Amino acid sequence: MDTTAIPPSSFHERRYNAYNDWVKREHGGRLQKISIDAGFTCPNRDGTLGVGGCSFCNNDGFTPSYLREQRNILDQIETGLAFMRRRYPETKEFLAYFQSYSNTYGDLDRLRTLYETALAHPDISGLVIGTRPDCLPEVTLDYLAELSQRVPVELEIGIESCNDEVLRECLRGHDFACTRDAIQRAARRRLFITGHLLLGLPRETPASLIEGAKSLASLPIDALKFHQLQIIRGTRLANQYRADPASVPLMSPESYLDAVIDILEHLPPQIKIQRLGSEVPPEQRVSPDWGIRLARFPAMLDARLQERETWQGRLFAPV
Ligand code: SF4
Repeated sequence: MDTTAIPPSSFHERRYNAYNDWVKREHGGRLQKISIDAGFTCPNRDGTLGVGGCSFCNNDGFTPSYLREQRNILDQIETGLAFMRRRYPETKEFLAYFQSYSNTYGDLDRLRTLYETALAHPDISGLVIGTRPDCLPEVTLDYLAELSQRVPVELEIGIESCNDEVLRECLRGHDFACTRDAIQRAARRRLFITGHLLLGLPRETPASLIEGAKSLASLPIDALKFHQLQIIRGTRLANQYRADPASVPLMSPESYLDAVIDILEHLPPQIKIQRLGSEVPPEQRVSPDWGIRLARFPAMLDARLQERETWQGRLFAPV
């Protein structure tokens, strides 16, 4: 290791490029996402590709309960704003986060109506749209590019894994070539692209995660979100885990943090790290509780990066 090298000063006090720090610099304060369930489904659930969904997926685990109770988008925004204003009174800007299922899976007229409804709220200044890479036809990307001339638009693409064997095993219904293609087509339109990763899926290995990181490093991604695999009730993975726990080896907090670091080391310094994990309500989780609140992850990551004397981009090799 080159001991004379140091983390880029643009990381400020950290050893990785934290999205929240970047937001503060760019927007002069906190940017808060207001989750929306706009009633979408996804091709892996409606029979187009499958009916049972990805093996790990039960969207209820990540959907705030008030979204299931309120169907109207503006009501959901009002409820979300009231909650976030109480929790983060310093927030300056709010984005509508189309989060549940695949939020570009529909014809353009429907998408336009839903997105414009959210943008019509006076306190919503932009959109975050979560989707699968195979739900991004040219016509949709062209429209999002047009929209992004008017308001900030962040496209969150579910990558989950860069390993085709892992994607096949979790019944994802697309391969990594599809992800690569979607990211490149979105980037050509200058959309802000966040990739969503799930670490610890069956058949993923430390070596395949590093190979995946090298692939991601060559793509025009703006930000990444890391999540640890948690087994959620009502999923195929939960059935598999109950029947044969050894068939779903789970990461410890320590091995998860080390896996995140192994990936970070190969990423270019400019990729912003937007999330380090997630919390599923205990009543919906089958896998054991780590007993660590999500808010502690950034400090734990920084401490471990320091201990390993490394940082984001240390092993990044531009091609
Ligand atoms: S993870 Fe996304 S793509 Fe997979 S079943 Fe759930 S909503 Fe559909």
